[in-house]
Amino acid sequence: MNAKEKSLVGKAAVITGAGRGIGRAIALAYAQNGASVVCAARTQKDIDEVVREIQTDGGTALAIQTDVTDLNAVTQLFRKAAEHFGSVDILVINAGINKDRNLVEESEPQNWFETVNVNLIGAYNCAYSAIPYMKQRGGKIITIGSGVGHKGRQGSSAYACSKAGLWMLTRVLAQELSKFKISVNELIPGPVNTTMDNDSKDSVFKIDGEWVKEPEDVTPLALFLASQPEIGPTAQSFSLMRRDN
Ligand code: NDP
Repeated sequence: MNAKEKSLVGKAAVITGAGRGIGRAIALAYAQNGASVVCAARTQKDIDEVVREIQTDGGTALAIQTDVTDLNAVTQLFRKAAEHFGSVDILVINAGINKDRNLVEESEPQNWFETVNVNLIGAYNCAYSAIPYMKQRGGKIITIGSGVGHKGRQGSSAYACSKAGLWMLTRVLAQELSKFKISVNELIPGPVNTTMDNDSKDSVFKIDGEWVKEPEDVTPLALFLASQPEIGPTAQSFSLMRRDN
């Protein structure tokens, strides 16, 4: 790919949950398209490895160990990202977990709280901390949502409620930030073969007839959303699913 074909040259992107799975794939794809990428997650060796891959491929990246539930750590993440790369143009709110796999009555409250804490409070922490930097030149916020957050799913109440909240946060942010030329859209990947669902009896892979993806299959849409014009779509949900689940 020559420099002209790279759609994200000159942009700095922060991607949460970039140590593995979908976040890692998006980090690699953005870097290949010319962005400077900040990889954030809790496991230092995972993000170090992604940064090494990007640098080996000739790209620019920085690993910043961050727990998105810790507002202080998230504040530092964006301060360091802006200091290092001069701006924050793209934020992918991707870090997510699914620890709640029971009916509400049988659920483990701690798992419920933890799921909402990472998927929704963590997303708020990121948006809250990123906005002051993104307002300077406008940009793109992409939230990684789920069809479960639109439709609900029994036995997944925390995940469903956290992703429903994330979708509403996406819409509200889009309304609040359009005057700063910041677009905010949701990307719904549908089932993707990652570690998130490894321990599940009720796997996302059990959706009949649905396209089960590899993380790399999500990157064309993530690139599309990051490279739309200033007056491009905002407050929208883009899904890679084939069925109305
Ligand atoms: P993975 O489990 O493969 O990766 C999750 C990433 O998030 C890891 O890098 C993990 O790193 C990070 N993470 C988890 N908790 C935190 C935290 N508190 N702070 C910072 N980083 C954290 O998951 P996926 O790639 O499958 O999921 C990515 C997103 O896609 C999630 O939001 C998920 O809900 C969504 N999604 C996934 C689908 C799928 O089928 N896989 C379907 C629909 C949506 P670490 O543990 O080191 O912090």
